[in-house]
Amino acid sequence: NGIDATGEQLQAVIIAAHGRHYLAEADGEKLQCVTRGKKTNVAVGDQVMLTRTSADQAVIDEISERRTLLYRSDQYKSKLLAANLTQLFIVVATEPGFADDLVSRALVAAEAAGIKAHLILNKTDVVESLAKTRERVQPYAALGYPVYEVSAKAQPEQTLATLKPLLAGQSSILIGQSGMGKSSLINLLVPEADIAVREISAALDTGKHTTTFTRLYQLPELGPDSAIIDSPGFQEFGLYHLSEGMLERAFVEFAPYLGHCKFYNCRHLSEPQCAVLDAIADGKIAKMRHTLYGQLLHESAQTLY
Ligand code: GDP
Ligand code: ZN
Repeated sequence: NGIDATGEQLQAVIIAAHGRHYLAEADGEKLQCVTRGKKTNVAVGDQVMLTRTSADQAVIDEISERRTLLYRSDQYKSKLLAANLTQLFIVVATEPGFADDLVSRALVAAEAAGIKAHLILNKTDVVESLAKTRERVQPYAALGYPVYEVSAKAQPEQTLATLKPLLAGQSSILIGQSGMGKSSLINLLVPEADIAVREISAALDTGKHTTTFTRLYQLPELGPDSAIIDSPGFQEFGLYHLSEGMLERAFVEFAPYLGHCKFYNCRHLSEPQCAVLDAIADGKIAKMRHTLYGQLLHESAQTLY
């Protein structure tokens, strides 16, 4: 429009990240952003202050204080997965089968970050495996994680009616193993998602076929501050930063027993008179969850040395 707005200060939200290249959205306008220096400490969902450097480019000056932060696993260059989330949805399905340890890893990541976790059980139309899958998700419901049954393909209207109220006013992330129907759900909730991905991919210069980046979609029809983050992959949660204390607290079912072990610094692995191990023997804590706890404890110890 001929007006040189270079130098203009803008408040924006980071909607996609690829390496050190970010895409920010300010009042509906998308800007390609870089950090100053070699910093890579920006996450999708971050609220930022920008200085415009050209019509569609800007530099990130400041990241606002985060309410929550989810980490990615060590293998990635950027260790930050998403900022300012209020809730996390794990998508599982009647078919193909899902992995319990991945579900629990996601639950632990959510607990540690202070994010509310839910499960979505998709493909309820596959009736032959519905009863069995309901049985498999029941332990999570018993731990206090709500389970919502949907069918993205067979009952899209009902699926939207179930999910929309849950997403209103929240910043949510949808995660799931491949094949569970996460893309189908995202496309229902954000019909323009495919176009947006192509746009973002072009703006970030990720290469033609790369859609493997985390991105944020605003959901204005659900009210202000409603957003959904789509993240590819599942096994990418970084739990290495958790201390032993954080880890035992992230297993919510351990709570009644913590502080009741013989040793004040009990790690609940093989110590005598351990209240957590006793609860497992009594069938009050699932063995599978304790096995994962042991694994995570081992993994976090390894990263220290
Ligand atoms: P993603 O890998 O989790 O993103 O899963 P997709 O959304 O690509 O879905 C995987 C497959 O499951 C596709 O063939 C979908 O058509 C199918 N699918 C998704 N939702 C449903 C559903 O509710 N019922 C049934 N029967 N199939 C579904
Ligand atoms: Zn113990």
